[in-house]
Amino acid sequence: MSCYSDYHGWFPLKDEEIKKRITRTEPGTYVLGVVNAGAFIHKYIGRSDNDLQRRLSEHVEVKYSHFYYKQFDSVISTFLEECTLYHELDGLDNENHPAKPRDIDVKCLFGECNFSRQSSP
Ligand SMILES: [Zn+2]
Repeated sequence: MSCYSDYHGWFPLKDEEIKKRITRTEPGTYVLGVVNAGAFIHKYIGRSDNDLQRRLSEHVEVKYSHFYYKQFDSVISTFLEECTLYHELDGLDNENHPAKPRDIDVKCLFGECNFSRQSSP
């Protein structure tokens, strides 16, 4: 059981698939990866604070072939969820801790992390 077992997915990381699945313009988190021998292997996590569909479409045909996603109605929930993915999943290509949303006072709550750096504009 992974920390994204309640996500929707996996789906092919293609424009028509993203548009079909994500019809509300809302924040959300995602897990990107590849499928090998019928199993999804997570490689990269991320979020959008306002438009998950648009953010995911930027990943099409770049590096990964499949995605999971989850939508939220709060920017803070989305950030905290991305932190959980970042800390819980092994083997990610992500180099940096998730940046906190702009102009919102929130810190990563995971263990002793307490990360609080703001995202660049
Ligand atoms: Zn953290």
